Amino acid sequence: MNQRIPFLDMKSPYRELKDELDHAYHRVMESGWYILGEEVEAFEQDFAAYCGAKHCIGLGNGLEALHLILRAYGIGQGDEVIVPSNTYIATWLAVSYTGATPVPVEPDLRTYNLDPQRVESAITSRTRAILPVHLYGLAADMDPLMSLADKYNLRVIEDAAQAQGARYKGRLSGNLGHAAGFSFYPGKNLGALGDAGAVVTNDESLAGQVRMLRNYGSKVKYFNDVKGYNSRLDEMQAAFLRVKLNHLNEWNERRSTLASAYLNSLSNVNDLILPFVPDWASPIWHIFPIRHPRRDDLQKYLKNGNVDTLIHYPVPPHLSKAYVEMGIPKEAFPVAETIASTELSIPMGPHMDLDAVEYIINLLKEFD
Ligand SMILES: *Cc1c(COP(=O)(O)O)cnc(C)c1O
Repeated sequence: MNQRIPFLDMKSPYRELKDELDHAYHRVMESGWYILGEEVEAFEQDFAAYCGAKHCIGLGNGLEALHLILRAYGIGQGDEVIVPSNTYIATWLAVSYTGATPVPVEPDLRTYNLDPQRVESAITSRTRAILPVHLYGLAADMDPLMSLADKYNLRVIEDAAQAQGARYKGRLSGNLGHAAGFSFYPGKNLGALGDAGAVVTNDESLAGQVRMLRNYGSKVKYFNDVKGYNSRLDEMQAAFLRVKLNHLNEWNERRSTLASAYLNSLSNVNDLILPFVPDWASPIWHIFPIRHPRRDDLQKYLKNGNVDTLIHYPVPPHLSKAYVEMGIPKEAFPVAETIASTELSIPMGPHMDLDAVEYIINLLKEFD
């Protein structure tokens, strides 16, 4: 292949939707209203309806979505929140921002998602919430987590940043726990053209709290009930997201077609571990994660073959410099560390074609 295959094609989405996005842009520019207006309200209604949930609150980004849910539930200093040991650091940071302690639990090595059995052993009298991540676009095993929540009176907060449209037993993410935090970072399956995020929930009182917290802690302009934040989805991003939401299902379908090609053709390749899809899951393939014992060599080999890849993620949060104060030693979370040292994300996206997938499949078959 003469042309480089990008990890994710970020230019074609605009080419495909240019007329609609340009129209949205002009609508907002001419409205003269840029923060918390009709576009945000319309997107909130559309996205809540899409998830089959009652409320959606548009926010500045996904990290704030998780943080504001925790704050709104009154979680803070002295509390513990269970998080996966193998996630993007934002999941942990949202907990740290509140003053609570993130308590890492190892994932199931097949699904890369929180292992409910290990979760139960990590629950203490201080545990207030479980924060499962639907990593790589595959829903976490939610039923056992919800049972634990009932048994120990905990909140379950979905980190749905990678899971717009992902299903668990037929139900959509955003509607699987007590509340969900979404990110619409440009590279996510539903991506804005800048930073954006949202909280989705059926809990009316939580929705009201988050609405207040995102806007300086005020319900009525200049009257502030609590020390809130500034984390508002802006009108321009909301207008773009309304356009892109209409294409989300189709674009997720296109990813699925490519994922099936990878899964069907790579099942017998030496040493290569493919993603596992439990029968209750309909993943949206935010990422197509493979694992290999010689991951770094494989990454170089693909790069020489003009294929861009990424690692999600090279450093698990407990070994990151940002969390040295927790004093967690190396090898404390061997599953997370195994994933970090063997995972490789190969190209995937709604604007990639099957020829590129075939090319990558052949390259992978020839790696030795
Ligand atoms: C992207 C992401 C976030 C954070 O979203 P931002 O919009 O970048 O703040 C949180 N958790 C996970 C798992 C993510 O992938």
